[in-house]
Amino acid sequence: TINNEDYTELLESRQKNVGRNLSIGYKDKLKIVKGALQYIYDDKGRTFVDCVNNPSHVGHCHPIVVRRMQKQIATLNTNTRYLNDTIIEYAEKLTATLPDALSVCYFVNSGSEANDLAVRMSRHYTKQKDLIVLDHAYHGTSTVAMEMSPYKFDSKGGFGKMPWIHKAINPDLYRGPYKYGDANAGEKYAADVQRIIEVLKKEGKAPAVFICETLLGVGGQIPLPENYLKTTYEYVRAAGGVCIADEVQVGFGRIGDHFWGFELQNVVPDIVVLGKPIGNGHPLAAVIVTNKIADAFNNGMEYFNTYGGNPVSMTAGLAVLDVIQEEEMQQHALEVGNHLMDGLRSLMAKYPIISDVRGHGLFIGAEMVKDRQTMEPAVPEIDIVVEKMKEKGYLLSTDGPLHNVLKIKPPMPFNKQNADEMIQYLDIALSEL
Ligand code: PMP
Repeated sequence: TINNEDYTELLESRQKNVGRNLSIGYKDKLKIVKGALQYIYDDKGRTFVDCVNNPSHVGHCHPIVVRRMQKQIATLNTNTRYLNDTIIEYAEKLTATLPDALSVCYFVNSGSEANDLAVRMSRHYTKQKDLIVLDHAYHGTSTVAMEMSPYKFDSKGGFGKMPWIHKAINPDLYRGPYKYGDANAGEKYAADVQRIIEVLKKEGKAPAVFICETLLGVGGQIPLPENYLKTTYEYVRAAGGVCIADEVQVGFGRIGDHFWGFELQNVVPDIVVLGKPIGNGHPLAAVIVTNKIADAFNNGMEYFNTYGGNPVSMTAGLAVLDVIQEEEMQQHALEVGNHLMDGLRSLMAKYPIISDVRGHGLFIGAEMVKDRQTMEPAVPEIDIVVEKMKEKGYLLSTDGPLHNVLKIKPPMPFNKQNADEMIQYLDIALSEL
């Protein structure tokens, strides 16, 4: 193993000149110097399988994405005040992956900015201010996105919940009040959103927005119960609110069964928010809305975004869509994801510490508990497993409100061989606990 003494100077400079609450992963820090598809390499020449970086969606430094971006950046990079073909071509290709109603794109630079804009547009449209969010959710780091993120505002250093924010119960079939096997759990969790709407009504208000991820990431890698979004969206729309789907972590074919997470729930959102994988790590994000919402936002005030929609970002987005399709990555995610989940379930049968395995495609969580009856979270055991896996060359992370869910969302080229090897090493790591 390598210890931090190798990086004393680097760590000191970082502490001095870079924001101090930028965290660094792992007990023994990694200095990563190169990436290639699902692999990243450190300065000591060690190879790691990246099991967590969904922004590098089609793979770190995918050669087609890199080449097309190189060509574009050597030709032109400017703002959207000139006519240019790339933004049109991209908007057409991107909206072609979505239901017809979602037809107008706004291109921005981060998921946070996209969520912020989505809320602003919804408030214009509804003339309301209140937002319904899921407990433990994370939607970004801008002021508005932080206000929508219980994961942040409820945590150490947070400002607390603003009066116009309302938290609905996390629809978690493992830990929540309605569990696996309850055929009406989706409707029961949706009833909590209706409860909030009733409270608002009594105060003479209505929700501007209901926003949630279409599989919960920071909430603990949780697929939504059947009928949850269908029922919730009905309630929210009946109250005049806008339904926003945050696809920042799950979109672009990762879930295998579908291209978008909301398709698992048979709904069409009023707004989808895209980020992370959209530009393969290049700072690009998007808000895609219905005509009605776009028209309400076109209210006389200019919307300008210095970098949003620039031709280099648009080229990155186009290249990502092309590569997903040409390399049949959605189907690959389905097959490899199912294979990996089978492997995790076989470990679950062997080690009681793994108490739930869930996910779709290459968006997977494995919950760890000290005791399956009490469901006491297996912390620090999970941290030990993550550190041991790192030593074997597999980079995993943890998530969930109790910090006890192994989080797996690798670049899409992650393959069956990587999955088998991961399971072998996990087996060893778990047996050593
Ligand atoms: N929404 C979700 C679901 C996210 O996971 C994140 C980032 N982790 C964001 C929004 C914010 O995206 P960004 O970091 O690009 O601002």
